[in-house]
Amino acid sequence: MKNFTYHSAKDSKEATKLSSSNSAFLAGGMTTIPSMKLGLASYKDIIDIKGIKKLSGIKVSGKSVIIGATTKHAEVANSKEIKKAIPSLSDLAEGIGDPAVRNRGTIGGSIANNDPAADYPSACIALNATIHTNSRKIEASKFFSGMFETTLKKGELIEAVEFQIPNKSSYQKHPNPASRYAVVGVYVAKNKNDVNVAITGAKSCVYKDENLSKALSKNFSVSAVDAVKVSSSGMNTDIHASAEYRASLVATYAKKAIEAC
Ligand SMILES: Cc1cc2nc3c(=O)[nH]c(=O)nc-3n(C[C@H](O)[C@H](O)[C@H](O)COP(=O)(O)OP(=O)(O)OC[C@H]3O[C@@H](n4cnc5c(N)ncnc54)[C@H](O)[C@@H]3O)c2cc1C
Repeated sequence: MKNFTYHSAKDSKEATKLSSSNSAFLAGGMTTIPSMKLGLASYKDIIDIKGIKKLSGIKVSGKSVIIGATTKHAEVANSKEIKKAIPSLSDLAEGIGDPAVRNRGTIGGSIANNDPAADYPSACIALNATIHTNSRKIEASKFFSGMFETTLKKGELIEAVEFQIPNKSSYQKHPNPASRYAVVGVYVAKNKNDVNVAITGAKSCVYKDENLSKALSKNFSVSAVDAVKVSSSGMNTDIHASAEYRASLVATYAKKAIEAC
C-alpha cells in the first residue's frame, strides 16, 4: 500500500474542502481499502467521513424513505421503519455480501462506487430515488453513467438517498455464491405513476428495462413477462454466466419478483 495522508472530517463542508483530484472518501472502506491494498488504486488523501453525524440515519415520511450516506447495510436490513415502508429494500440490504460487509459497507459508498453487480443501484432506479449531495439533488436516472462511473463531480459528497415508497415492490437476485454480488438482480416496483424494472449484474451498468417496464405498466402479471423477449445484446459474458444465460435470468427473476410483490 502506498503512503497517504489520513483526514477525519467533522462535517460535509470540511470533507469537500479536503478533497482533491487524488483523494477518496472513506465510508466503510469495503472497496477503498482492498483496492489500495491490491494496488488497484492509490490516493494522496483519504478523507474519513464516518464521524459526520448528519450523514447517518434513517427517516421515513408519508411518501419517502431517506437514508443517510454512511448508513450501513445492516442498519437498513434491520430497520423496522424500512421493513414496514419498503420491505424489498431491507431484503436487498440483508442479501448484500456477508455480515462483515453488511456491518461496514454503506449505501453512499455502494452507489458512488457503482459496481455493475451492486444491489443498491437497482433500488435507486426502480424506486425513482433522488441522490442528495452537498451541492444538489440528482435523479437516479441521471446518476449512474457507466461501469464504476456516476455523474458525481470530483469531491462531491453524497449526503443521503431518498427513495419513493412504492405501492408494491420486490428485489430478487441470482447471487454469486462467493461474494453475493448479483450475477443478475431484478428490482420490480409498482409506483404510484409507473412500473419500473431495474436490472443489475447483467450489463456494464445498472439500467431500467424499458420493455419489461412498459409491459408491466399495462398488465402487472407474470404472463406479461412471458410476452417480452429479453435480448442478450450488450449483456456480460464471464466465468459465472454467458450473456444468453443472463438474459434468461432476467426473465426468470422478473417473474419471481412479481410473484413476491
Ligand atoms: C467481500 C465483499 C462482498 C460484497 N458483496 C456485495 C454484494 O453482494 N452486493 C453489493 O451490492 N455490494 C457488495 N459489496 C460491496 C459493499 O457492499 C460496499 O457497499 C462497497 O464495497 C462500498 O464500500 P463502502 O460503503 O465501505 O465505501 P468505501 O469503500 O469507503 O468507498 C467506496 C468509494 O465510494 C466513495 N464514497 C464513499 N462514500 C461516499 C459519499 N458519501 N459520497 C461520495 N462518494 C463516496 C469513495 O470515495 C470511494 O471511491 C461487497 C464487498 C465486499 C468486500
